[in-house]
Amino acid sequence: MFFHVLTLFPDMIMDGLNTSILGKAMERGCIRAEAVNIRDYTLDKHLKVDDYTYGGGAGMLMQAQPVYDCTMAVLDSIAKRAADEIIDDTTDDTTDDTTDNKENVLKDEIKDFCINSMDAKKTRVIYVTPQGRVFNQKTAQELAKEEDLIFLCGHYEGIDERVLEEVVTDYISIGDYVLTGGELPAMVMIDAIARLVPGVLNNDESAQTESFGNGLLEYPQYSRPRIWHDKEVPPVLLSGDHKKVEEWRLEQSLIRTKERRPDLYEKWRESHL
Ligand code: SAM
Repeated sequence: MFFHVLTLFPDMIMDGLNTSILGKAMERGCIRAEAVNIRDYTLDKHLKVDDYTYGGGAGMLMQAQPVYDCTMAVLDSIAKRAADEIIDDTTDDTTDDTTDNKENVLKDEIKDFCINSMDAKKTRVIYVTPQGRVFNQKTAQELAKEEDLIFLCGHYEGIDERVLEEVVTDYISIGDYVLTGGELPAMVMIDAIARLVPGVLNNDESAQTESFGNGLLEYPQYSRPRIWHDKEVPPVLLSGDHKKVEEWRLEQSLIRTKERRPDLYEKWRESHL
């Protein structure tokens, strides 16, 4: 899976994503990420990317042109990469020098055909915005099925509406509060999505048994030592009886969910009882 983040602060994205589990997953090639600087696409000679809002009001707005050109460049690179993959899969490398030239011309023609006929807009372009539907585990699971995802990060007052209408496929928020920019929301979403991609976590099972995986919060967990501050680990966890451990964990999940997230508990009850 390849995450493309369109931002005015690329270092912030790459510093965040290159760390810990996601950084290691990138080294292993399970996921890829790039931060594309929207400023690189401005046609303004002073490299300006924002301006005052029509109608007045506080703050600056990101302009349509750099955002549009940046998005188109990334969509184009995705289409070219996909075309290269098709060519690699369908052409034979065992040609001799005399057929090389013809072969290359043919490859270019196939590539152009692929790029032109490929619906590059199929790639989802997510504008991270407080005005979107609120991100949750279900959204992460849905997005984890995509091969490429583009995240568009706003700043200042946001982005000119006209370009959003042309390029955005999904408006997604991380919650009902307003941040200064879209970089943290994009990283939050990428983290939640990436850990569902096979191979990113050492143990893929852990993503399924965690909170929200089955509609409940996860049960309490314990590690060594067996007794800490006079508190003992629940004996069933030391029993070696896997069935009993599973039963205890489900029971604890239900108790915890009912207590902390009655809304989730009610949903679970409706679908299970
Ligand atoms: N004027 C916008 C509004 O009232 O809806 C808020 C703009 S906010 C200061 C700047 C940028 O931060 C947004 O364009 C968006 O990309 C990002 N952002 C802020 N809060 C967010 C949230 N809760 N979820 C996702 N993105 C958010």
